[in-house]
Amino acid sequence: MFFCSRDLTKADNNCKILVFDILFIYNEADMNKIIELAKKHAKMCFKDGVTSMACILKTKKGNFYTGVNVKYKSIWKCICAERVAIAKAVEAGDMEFDAIVTVKYFHETDSYSVVNMCGECRQIAISHAPFFVIVSDKEKVKKVNIDDIFPYPYK
Ligand SMILES: [Zn+2]
Repeated sequence: MFFCSRDLTKADNNCKILVFDILFIYNEADMNKIIELAKKHAKMCFKDGVTSMACILKTKKGNFYTGVNVKYKSIWKCICAERVAIAKAVEAGDMEFDAIVTVKYFHETDSYSVVNMCGECRQIAISHAPFFVIVSDKEKVKKVNIDDIFPYPYK
């Protein structure tokens, strides 16, 4: 099961429905909208010790796929929010990406920060290039090409 739509109008408590009204990430206002969506999703899905990060992946068809990280203290393996979102898009056959962002929610302070994609996720995501990644660079959030943050991938 995957959750996506470009006509969604309301967030619910089951992490299924999201708010969004743009088709492409053209400018800073659009970038901020997708970041706000990731913030909402991160807070909505927060489970202490299990998940605190949420990814929003937007495809060129205008669909939005959500992902959260899953990490348990009892086991050393975890999965990143980005790969969860990517898997949902791939499952739906929606392979052309437009933009992706991941946000971490800090429950103690009710605050957020954009987090950068890990190397493993970059290697997976680069197969869908070109698309934009919203990154944090010295406290500044900006939009870059996936190729810029992973220039020499394994092929
Ligand atoms: Zn990752």
